[in-house]
Amino acid sequence: YAAKQTGEPVRRWTPALDERAGEFVRLGAEIRAALDNDQFRVVYQPIVELPSARVAAVEALVRWEHPVRGLVSPAAFIPVAERNGLIVELGEWILRTACHRLAGWRVELGPAAPDRVSVNVSARQLARPHFAATVAAALADSGLPASCLAVEVTETAVFEGGQAVVALHELRALGVRIALDDFGTGHSSLGLLQTVPVDILKVDKSFVDNVTEAGRPTVIADALYQVSAGLGLLAVAEGVETADQAEALHRLGYRYLQGYHFGRPVAEPEFAPATAVVAVA
Ligand code: C2E
Ligand code: MG
Ligand code: MG
Ligand code: MG
Repeated sequence: YAAKQTGEPVRRWTPALDERAGEFVRLGAEIRAALDNDQFRVVYQPIVELPSARVAAVEALVRWEHPVRGLVSPAAFIPVAERNGLIVELGEWILRTACHRLAGWRVELGPAAPDRVSVNVSARQLARPHFAATVAAALADSGLPASCLAVEVTETAVFEGGQAVVALHELRALGVRIALDDFGTGHSSLGLLQTVPVDILKVDKSFVDNVTEAGRPTVIADALYQVSAGLGLLAVAEGVETADQAEALHRLGYRYLQGYHFGRPVAEPEFAPATAVVAVA
């Protein structure tokens, strides 16, 4: 009866739950300490442009260099940081680090520097009232032009509308590009394109994995490309691991590819000068 009133299922406080809650608190405290002790790093994965395979952009991805556990995957700590709110501080640090990094590459490398850095932003960051102002300050402090920054948001972060979508409009007005991450895996992928300002669709790896097989997988990857092209958006295929996948995607029209085949996320990616070679393979 009480459960019906609050809408919450009644759960017994078992030792297992207790352990999980303890783990959550412990990991949260460790993330706090890691921020204070500079244990986070940002690595950059190339997004290449076909046919030259020039690195047109990079995606910034956070890493935790834990003194005891070694490299901790963001999948293990981003969800905790989202729940306890530390993602706001961590996310701002990542954003500032990435902006400074690309500003530095532009000075060092000139035209060989990537055009853009893409930074993942969580729902919690986006829903904060002054998120666009935070981004504007990071751009101003680094000297990076707004057009050199993209924010990657997931469908779930924006599908409820509200402040998150207001923030996207404000970012767009600054000149920042908006990328929908893991596109096609959310609740309302196509519906969102009617309501949310978007510049880039990041087609999820799950649609890339079997793109070399005729039939269903190819039809879906093709359809996602057609939607992006028809709406004037850039499509980026994520998780490209083989030359055959790259070739199949190229045939469908995809010009921007990201994945281990072209390079893993690293601290210092190589930005080879653009060549005239068709370097799909
Ligand atoms: P995502 O934004 O979709 O990032 C792509 C993930 O796929 C990265 O994993 C990348 O290393 C991995 N990946 C790239 N190419 C390939 C490939 O060819 N094969 C395979 N199997 N994987 C590939 P990572 O770095 O472990 O990040 C996982 C997720 O954690 C990200 O997914 C993103 O949702 C989140 N994340 C990472 N960094 C940040 C961050 O700075 N802020 C926030 N809010 N979330 C982040
Ligand atoms: Mg991403
Ligand atoms: Mg992604
Ligand atoms: Mg993905």
